[in-house]
Amino acid sequence: MDMTVKQYLQTFGVSEATQRFLTKHQKMFIAGEWVEASDGQTSDVIEPSTECVLTRIPMGTTADLDRAVQAARAQFDGGAWRQLKPLERERLMHRLADLIEENADELAEIESIDMGKSVSGARAVDLQGTVDTLRYFAGWATKIHGRTVEPSLPGNYLAYTRKEPIGVVGAIVPWNFPLQTMAWKLGAALATGCTVVVKPAELTSLSALRFAELVQQAGIPDGVVNIVTGRGNVVGAAMATHPGIDKLTFTGSTPVGRTVGQAALDDMKRLTLELGGKSPVIVLADADVPAAAQAIANGVFFNSGQVCDAGTRAYVHRSIYDSFLSELIAYTRTLKMAPGLDPDCFISPLVSALQKQRVLDYIEIGKREGAELVYGGQPVQGPGYFVEPTIFAHCRNDMQIVQEEIFGPVLVTAPFDDEEEALALANDSPFGLAAALYSNDLGRVHSLIPRLRAGSVYVNAHGTIDPSMPFGGYKQSGFGKDLGAEQLDYLLETKAVWITLP
Ligand code: NAD
Repeated sequence: MDMTVKQYLQTFGVSEATQRFLTKHQKMFIAGEWVEASDGQTSDVIEPSTECVLTRIPMGTTADLDRAVQAARAQFDGGAWRQLKPLERERLMHRLADLIEENADELAEIESIDMGKSVSGARAVDLQGTVDTLRYFAGWATKIHGRTVEPSLPGNYLAYTRKEPIGVVGAIVPWNFPLQTMAWKLGAALATGCTVVVKPAELTSLSALRFAELVQQAGIPDGVVNIVTGRGNVVGAAMATHPGIDKLTFTGSTPVGRTVGQAALDDMKRLTLELGGKSPVIVLADADVPAAAQAIANGVFFNSGQVCDAGTRAYVHRSIYDSFLSELIAYTRTLKMAPGLDPDCFISPLVSALQKQRVLDYIEIGKREGAELVYGGQPVQGPGYFVEPTIFAHCRNDMQIVQEEIFGPVLVTAPFDDEEEALALANDSPFGLAAALYSNDLGRVHSLIPRLRAGSVYVNAHGTIDPSMPFGGYKQSGFGKDLGAEQLDYLLETKAVWITLP
């Protein structure tokens, strides 16, 4: 670990447990064993607030993936895992959730140091979300069953359906909520009796490796959960075509999701794609302007805008547009930009130099396109991949900054005159992950909800997520759902059984 990172950890009094984990030689978790990459390759992990080397992680190979898939297959095809009763699976999942809860402070620190995010946000959102997801799906393990049917055919039959686990699940996860997204994939998979191979994002693999230690400690049989760290175009691409994987669940960008999805359909893998977004927000004339401005700023700047369903396009009724912008700017000014470990940090550094450059490039594009820069957008001095929260006004829908996902702290805004116009602007996007409405006029709100082409609609808030509610996009934001009872359908096959009776 670089000295600068050591000092950073000391300054913020990081726990001994976290320091112990971070100074450890990191290995992957395959078939219950801790292993190096088969060709010994590793990659530096950079800490985003200091831009210095934190540690190294193995860069897995296709041979490593093969081993992980074999281990998962063996457990699925008749290992100890398949022999477990649903209640025993539920108990193991709760034990894992207990261990995560016990180690939540450490895991939040690891997530913050690895990804750059605010440690307080990681504790409240990522860790709480991980525990809640595992507990929610643990409860489902005992409630998965088919139905008996009375056919109208001549003859006498016992006809019933069985819900059976799909098999080996390959899960590819992104870097913005590494642990929580992995839990979204794992919760439903374990509840249904599947086995899993996870490929974390190469930028943020550490929390998955700490999580794997807890999987082992919980007593989940070896091979049920495997973590193969490595590059997307090596391990991830191989997962998409691996014949031993029955279902691929991918969360990431739309371009990569499209490639992965096409490859996965070659052998008809079951598929879930949770992809990018450019979620609209509509503020109606009757909205509580200060409350809407705060909620919208929180919704777009949380995790420095690296949130798939962030409300990045705000359309505001012309009669309140100016007062909305004043409130928005005043509130945004109060959001503290700081290294992730600062307990008051709200605006954390972005995950990497590449991501920072991408966001800065979009800010330049916005200026060139003639959008009015009303807040932020200036380079930030010093170490750390920081980008100021940035607000553009009077944007047009044909601008690149309005149509494309930036994945950083950038909000584009525009006034509208009537609801039809607002609706047309909101739906004019290739994405359809989420949308938000700000109004207390229930009639108006209810008439707009069905007309918004988005997988989630939030009213007078943004990004409320709970394991009991499904999450997933319309249009190019993907297909399939994570979370909620709906997710189970994507991990189960339905078998129709016909028994001819005398
Ligand atoms: P990304 O698409 O670059 O990478 C996602 C994952 O795919 C990583 O693990 C990466 O290693 C892997 N990957 C990269 N190339 C691959 C390939 N050729 N084959 C297989 N796997 C490959 O996305 P990212 O930059 O890590 O994450 C940000 C994106 O994720 C944003 O677009 C965001 O909107 C999206 N996202 C969506 C959701 C959702 O639920 N809809 C949630 C979080 C993030």
